[in-house]
Amino acid sequence: MKTELLKSTPENIKKAAKILKNGGLVGIPTETVYGLAANALDGKAVAKIFEAKGRPADNPLIVHIADFGDIEKFNLVSEVPEAAKALAKHFWPGPLTIIMKKGEAVPGEVSAGLGTVAIRFPCHPDARRIIEAASVPLAAPSANLSGSPSPTTAQHVMNDLDGRIDAVLDGGECSVGLESTVITLADTVPRVLRPGGVTVEQLREVLDTVEVDEAVLNRLAEGKTAASPGMKYKHYAPRANVVLLKCTDSEYIDYVNDHGGVGVAALCCDEDLPRLKNVKTVSLGKRGDYEAQAHSLFESLRRIDGYGDVITVYSRLPGTDGVGMAVYNRLIRAAGFEVIDLG
Ligand code: AMP
Ligand code: MG
Repeated sequence: MKTELLKSTPENIKKAAKILKNGGLVGIPTETVYGLAANALDGKAVAKIFEAKGRPADNPLIVHIADFGDIEKFNLVSEVPEAAKALAKHFWPGPLTIIMKKGEAVPGEVSAGLGTVAIRFPCHPDARRIIEAASVPLAAPSANLSGSPSPTTAQHVMNDLDGRIDAVLDGGECSVGLESTVITLADTVPRVLRPGGVTVEQLREVLDTVEVDEAVLNRLAEGKTAASPGMKYKHYAPRANVVLLKCTDSEYIDYVNDHGGVGVAALCCDEDLPRLKNVKTVSLGKRGDYEAQAHSLFESLRRIDGYGDVITVYSRLPGTDGVGMAVYNRLIRAAGFEVIDLG
């Protein structure tokens, strides 16, 4: 299959929408990461997403809409909870995904057989235009090969999926750079299953109680079922082996300098750069600037692979406040939960 790389023009948006209506797959820009979209109401089209990505069949997809009213219009959920209305009012369009009880129109391929469905109203103008032009909701996971870092540019999508999908629409670099925050309203208490650009602190300003699922910051305990199937996999990982250090800033620098050499890289912060010797360095941004770190994380992981000779990457556990929780969640999965505690 030839994959067309389309510039974001009104004609190409129409073209992308036509491909989607005909059951094809298109990589689309969103504010979080690039998504690999198909018509969410067409089970056969959705099945192609799993094939193109090599995604495990038990990992459900997020359904993207272009208006809050689409939820009822397309029968996506069995009931819209009051909490969903409140969250939508504050955070939609934007990087928040809300899980609700599934409606009849949602094919089993989208929900991976669960009784719930994940819904998001993105704010990227191209994403909204494509959904509107396709006139159906779009199921779209991240547009990477399963397991590799999520794509934040159209070129990343091409690097992973060229020849496997119909087209990619280039809408520039993603502003957030990490996938959406996922919250479930399908249980008694609202619970964050995946942290992202909308923080737990912000959610707690809107809803009285918001829990954080234990799998967000920890490896899932043996024998436990993941509330969000995607969170159980080693994920977001470059080919190089990511090792996380739990330590102070100066312990990090000493450790990396002691263990440096050929094949070693530091995924660090701007302030570390002058003190790191004898290792390749990629900075995520300023220490404590978690928005900047979120924005550059996946790009940085891909850049490290681009060096070709990196075997081990040392990074440091970030804090878990604000967007730090999302950076922590992605890094710990990229590291396959391998953390060295220097304390
Ligand atoms: P991706 O679109 O690749 O960022 O992945 C979507 C994430 O949302 C994965 O971690 C899924 O497991 C999760 N997800 C999607 N639908 C549901 C659902 N109905 N229940 C729980 N988690 C979901
Ligand atoms: Mg993904």
